[in-house]
Amino acid sequence: MTELLSNYVAGRWQSGTGAGTPLFDPVLGTELARVDATGLDLPAAFAFAREQGGNALRALTYRQRAGLLAAVVKVLQANRDAYYEIATANSGTVKNDSAVDIDGAIFTLGQYAKWGDALGDVRALRDGDAAKLGKEPVFQSQHLQVPTQGVALFINAFNFPSWGLWEKAAPALLSGVPVIVKPATATAWLTQRMVKDVVDAGVLPAGALSIVCGSSAGLMDALQPFDVASFTGSAETAAVIRSHPAVAQRSVRVNIEADSLNSALLLPGAAPGSDAFNLLVREVVREMTVKSGQKCTAIRRVLVPAKLYDAAAEAIGAKLAGISVGNPRNESVRMGSLVSRAQLDSVREGLDALAALDALAAQTTVLHDGRDKPLVDADPAVAACIAPVLLGARDADAAQRVHDVEVFGPVATLLPYRDLAHGIALAHRGQGSLVTSLYGSDDAALAQAALAVAPSHGRVHVITPEVAQAHTGHGNVMPMSLHGGPGRAGGGAELGGLRALDFYHRRAAVQASPGVLAALGL
Ligand code: NAP
Repeated sequence: MTELLSNYVAGRWQSGTGAGTPLFDPVLGTELARVDATGLDLPAAFAFAREQGGNALRALTYRQRAGLLAAVVKVLQANRDAYYEIATANSGTVKNDSAVDIDGAIFTLGQYAKWGDALGDVRALRDGDAAKLGKEPVFQSQHLQVPTQGVALFINAFNFPSWGLWEKAAPALLSGVPVIVKPATATAWLTQRMVKDVVDAGVLPAGALSIVCGSSAGLMDALQPFDVASFTGSAETAAVIRSHPAVAQRSVRVNIEADSLNSALLLPGAAPGSDAFNLLVREVVREMTVKSGQKCTAIRRVLVPAKLYDAAAEAIGAKLAGISVGNPRNESVRMGSLVSRAQLDSVREGLDALAALDALAAQTTVLHDGRDKPLVDADPAVAACIAPVLLGARDADAAQRVHDVEVFGPVATLLPYRDLAHGIALAHRGQGSLVTSLYGSDDAALAQAALAVAPSHGRVHVITPEVAQAHTGHGNVMPMSLHGGPGRAGGGAELGGLRALDFYHRRAAVQASPGVLAALGL
């Protein structure tokens, strides 16, 4: 039997009373550990976090809480090597891909520590200037933001066990709100180990950070009106969460990050081999292959002027041909595995939906298929590895499923557009996405296109030759920029600097004399 990972709730480590659900090495197929949350007293766990954790955190100022984040950074940095080992074993990722999750988390925490320090020694935040309520300024309204007096429940997806926790926990803890995280079962080990290290280091007050590994049963039921819930995962589970009585009846605030059919758009006028063309090709290949395409922000639809369709297919295919796939422990491997055999099945199903073998039913054709190359150091009957596949559809409007089905793996579809208006309309066909990237060299045209796509995207990443070395990557979520998108993407909003604190605060207006308002000390 492998180790049963403990849950940390109500200030102590507690094991579930069930047999547990196994976690596997997705390359070797071996069992690594088990998780179980059976029998935990969740109402008591939430009450402990809400009262002990919340009171202790809110007793501190923003600057002091920023100090806690800095201390967490030190703990995580000290244990980085162990995290890389766990990521290799449980997520099947090569080192560079593990870095996106592990170092991305540490970087994000560090940023919030810095921004929080600048907020100073206050316990509430001013929201705009006071406005007079009558003709004379004797009675005024001052808006302010105060930390919500509840817990923040995070229900996370399998693809970012590290960053998924810390990009949410950084603004929550800085706001004075205790955190209870429920990682996705398949990759819960890394999240559990990080929480364990932070708890063991004793750098956070009791109740500030809890973890429940295993089933999600009962978590939403434990939420009360001033709690908040932040969910990342599939649209189906998001619908369950949205309709839960905690949200529908008790007004628990929720943030949803769901799936997204992100696009990349090459503006008209770029010739094959031009800087803009090459930058698009490079980014598409990177996005298809980093973390084997298991990024909510990855490029799924590639929009190019119709006359460049063949050249783009050739250039992207040529680069994909150089990607070696297999066991991440082998130095020559560029792309490791998906997180599980279940995900491999799901990617294969998605590929079938887009490019069914039945030619009549197929909405796309296969432009590049890396699957005929052998895996490196991995058994195809065991490993959850799949090579990149580039699909294409010459009639971008008719290929409805390409705009509907998110294949959560190394798969993207090339789509030609007639003119820029058509290209922008196709980007909007994602029904709300996390990010789109635009490629070109005409500043004015790019700016117009950015404004045109912005209403259906949380982030617009514009790449010109002058930012070729400096840009941060289409799919990289930087803490300075908004993460989240409207519509299908879930309608959520994370990060974006201190804007992230809004979710964990309550806005109130205090109506009073200037003297009372001044005494608020904001
Ligand atoms: P999922 O099946 O919806 O699971 C997500 C989380 O919800 C897991 O922790 C899961 O726990 C939990 N869960 C399952 N059923 C639940 C229920 N009835 N009530 C409460 N929680 C429940 O999603 P996934 O397949 O793991 O994640 C992949 C998807 O996430 C992709 O579509 C991807 O686009 C999306 N994603 C979005 C973002 C973003 O920021 N927008 C980031 C990453 C991923 P168990 O694991 O124990 O089942």
